[in-house]
Amino acid sequence: MTEPTAAPPVPKAELHVHLEAGAAPALVRRNADRYGVDVSRLFDDEGRYLWTDFTTFLTAYDLAASVFRTPEDFAGLAESYQLDAAAAGSVYTEFFVSPDFGNRSGLGYRAYLDGIVEGLRRAEAAAGIVGRLIPLIERHYGPERGVEAARAAVNNLVPEVVGFGMAGEERLYAPHEFRPAFEVAAEAGLPLTCHAGEWCSWEGVAATLDALPVRRIGHGVRAIENADLVRRIAAEGIHLEICPVSNVTLGVYGSYADHPLLKLRAAGVRHSLNSDDPPFFWTSVGHEYRVGRDTFGLSDAELAGVTRMAIEDAFCDEATKARLFARL
Ligand SMILES: [Zn+2]
Repeated sequence: MTEPTAAPPVPKAELHVHLEAGAAPALVRRNADRYGVDVSRLFDDEGRYLWTDFTTFLTAYDLAASVFRTPEDFAGLAESYQLDAAAAGSVYTEFFVSPDFGNRSGLGYRAYLDGIVEGLRRAEAAAGIVGRLIPLIERHYGPERGVEAARAAVNNLVPEVVGFGMAGEERLYAPHEFRPAFEVAAEAGLPLTCHAGEWCSWEGVAATLDALPVRRIGHGVRAIENADLVRRIAAEGIHLEICPVSNVTLGVYGSYADHPLLKLRAAGVRHSLNSDDPPFFWTSVGHEYRVGRDTFGLSDAELAGVTRMAIEDAFCDEATKARLFARL
């Protein structure tokens, strides 16, 4: 990742980071050496992840994820992400974790979760950064596996698990088909978020808000296509987890000039700035805030306001929020 200018000197917080996609190239190389896996085709000459389209992105993602195999590997992943984020001035990260991925990795969800939690606790002890977890449904596996993911989440509630959500292929299945899964999580008291309005139009955001009792939307930026929907989101205080670099890198928007961040802000929509799948999109929490300042023209005071909104709408408990506000 090129870092031409320093990140804005404001405390930062993120609500939308996929843990498995947060593995820095150096960490992947270290694990790959240990397991004897050839990952040379993963990286370009500068050591950055190399992919050109969604298919090669998924291949790269799977290969990188394949070198995380033990609870300690996942502890190292969570710890290293948090230490890098803390060095960039971040005080808080909510990670998406996947019960289905935990099972696919061969470890089982609980051992995977326990490893991640250990890494978060080590990072907090070392650098003060707080990490919390949002287990999620991988939408493309369908509503039945969604219910299984929700049951896994509520049967393995550790203090770090603070919410529940859904990511994955937005163009498959309608939101209401996942209502049984979200009800399992809601009944256990977990606040909810769901990816929408990234690959599908504003209608996907509206359908999600109609069908599921979510407080936040992952991305949600394409709500901008319908003024009534934007007014509804602002009025209901729905928080959009906005990921500008991800949106432009994946071509949801052709350029930052086309990205609706400033219009959504002007409409009074609550939001945060997030790195999504950071090293794969050649970004980081520091870089998102840098883009906020250098490309969108936000002042340090405005960026500090974004961090405040993120903590206000975080899914952690009030005592944790009070600790975080004290650091702003
Ligand atoms: Zn995402």
